[in-house]
Amino acid sequence: MKYTLKQKKDIITNWKKWGVLGHIDKLFEYYANTENCEFCNKKFDTTFDKCLDHDHITLNFRKVVCRGCNNNDNYIKLMNGEILYGRENKKDYDKQHYEKNKEKKKEQARLYRINNNEKIKEKQQELNKEKIECECGCVVTKCNLTRHMKTKLHTRMMMQKQNPQD
Ligand SMILES: [Zn+2]
Ligand SMILES: [Zn+2]
Repeated sequence: MKYTLKQKKDIITNWKKWGVLGHIDKLFEYYANTENCEFCNKKFDTTFDKCLDHDHITLNFRKVVCRGCNNNDNYIKLMNGEILYGRENKKDYDKQHYEKNKEKKKEQARLYRINNNEKIKEKQQELNKEKIECECGCVVTKCNLTRHMKTKLHTRMMMQKQNPQD
């Protein structure tokens, strides 16, 4: 299949959006020269049918596959080259990977909070200044909402709302 420069650019832009890792030019050459799905062997009819499958966790390229195989996401190529088939295996794999990464992610989040303490505080303050409408109908800033809900004004407004005739 031949690709115009524009098509190539569009396809690569997409890959980058998904975060595909690797030597992109080499990957494209490989992709362009693959004529059959590397999973079910179906011949690609259109470029739309031709997908670059990548591991959503490691972001590594796996295979060039047809849209059907890609959507099913029914196999996993492990880092050691071994291939696991089937959705159940994939679930297990994702779970294991998740467990392994949980502690690491927690630590990353902790470090992020420490390093971005000021930024987070600023953001929080900004959010707190945002005005919202209380269920009683009063407009208050977010940081005042809890306090407002304990006021007589709020109680009165709520009562009025529940018994409009009074
Ligand atoms: Zn296929
Ligand atoms: Zn209120």
